[in-house]
Amino acid sequence: MADSKGNSLVIKIVVVALWLALIIPGGRQLAAHRNYEEAVVLGPGVTEVKKLSDWAPYVANTPNDCSIYVLDSGVPGGSMLVIGGTHPEEPAGVLSAVTIVENVVPTTGKIYVAVRANRSASTVTRPGDAYPQFFNINTDFGKRTFRMGDRWSNPLDSWPDPEVYVHYPSKQLLAYMDVRNLNRTWPGRPDGMITERTTRAFIDMIKAENIDIFVDNHEAELEYSVISTIVAHQAAADVAAMASMMLSAGEFNMGMEFSPTLLHGLSHREVGDHTDAYAFEIEVPEPFLDRVRGITDEALLLEGKDEFVMRAGQAGLLYEKIDENGWNIHERVGRTNSTIDMIVQMFAMFYPDKPITYESLPMRNDIVANGLGHYLLDPAQAEADRVVYE
Ligand SMILES: [Zn+2]
Repeated sequence: MADSKGNSLVIKIVVVALWLALIIPGGRQLAAHRNYEEAVVLGPGVTEVKKLSDWAPYVANTPNDCSIYVLDSGVPGGSMLVIGGTHPEEPAGVLSAVTIVENVVPTTGKIYVAVRANRSASTVTRPGDAYPQFFNINTDFGKRTFRMGDRWSNPLDSWPDPEVYVHYPSKQLLAYMDVRNLNRTWPGRPDGMITERTTRAFIDMIKAENIDIFVDNHEAELEYSVISTIVAHQAAADVAAMASMMLSAGEFNMGMEFSPTLLHGLSHREVGDHTDAYAFEIEVPEPFLDRVRGITDEALLLEGKDEFVMRAGQAGLLYEKIDENGWNIHERVGRTNSTIDMIVQMFAMFYPDKPITYESLPMRNDIVANGLGHYLLDPAQAEADRVVYE
């Protein structure tokens, strides 16, 4: 009797010890990712760094009070807001925003940039899908490390999810987890859950600053039909169609489609409906997001090469081409930047009274030729007050 009691106690102690041996190092990794300070260096064009809560006090002291980088030429003109990191598992959108902050010098009008529009979603990945926690970009001075993220806000910041997410104000029913999806909670509300509050904060900012052009950077899986395209609100359709034609006649194919009028919560629908800004979403290809992908690692995230996705393409299951060269991060960031630039140029053609001009935006051909890292600045070489941590 005594022996079996002793044995069961030993078994319990061993089980608890094994459990702790798994949970402590695992938890430490998750905490290190959540608390990692991601450097953004202020380029020569940045005149001010504000917080989203400067326009919307109801996001102060939340994980989503992200930095808003202001590039003000001092010359009256139009204004543009570019947001990266709506979906932090789409790194080209984030890195495009970083290249704007670190390189662009405005010469007419004003540019606002959010690198981490949903900061909370950048503090969690998908361990169950074996996502890498970080990714590194090789630069002229070494590596720059960025947080990999998820599509949805961190449940630690937004819990519990409802049984069904009732979109405000349309009352459209959406999947429960999309109450944490920054591209399903527009236009948001100040007393909603954190992701709804974040989109409402951007709406308030867009109105207060009279933003003319709103661009939401994304990437898409090749199995999804909305890819290599600009999705535009109907008010912005002429500008988007011209940009699509000019790009497709030149360096690369970029389509254009209308934002569905009855599908609510998306940025290109609600920003266009609730503000005076012309709303655009850019989607470039990211094989990492495809469900049929192989090993889900940093190499796939950055190089975009995958034999299984290629096989899906051979079977006619994809909406974009892929070959053994894949879709690397240089191509994806480059296309995003060149598309933003073309939208700005076409907007200036239609609305010459609201010009936005600038220098030194790295374009697709530059980035593909020189590598993305060539356009990232060295935080160690910058003045301390010219480095911001996201
Ligand atoms: Zn996305």
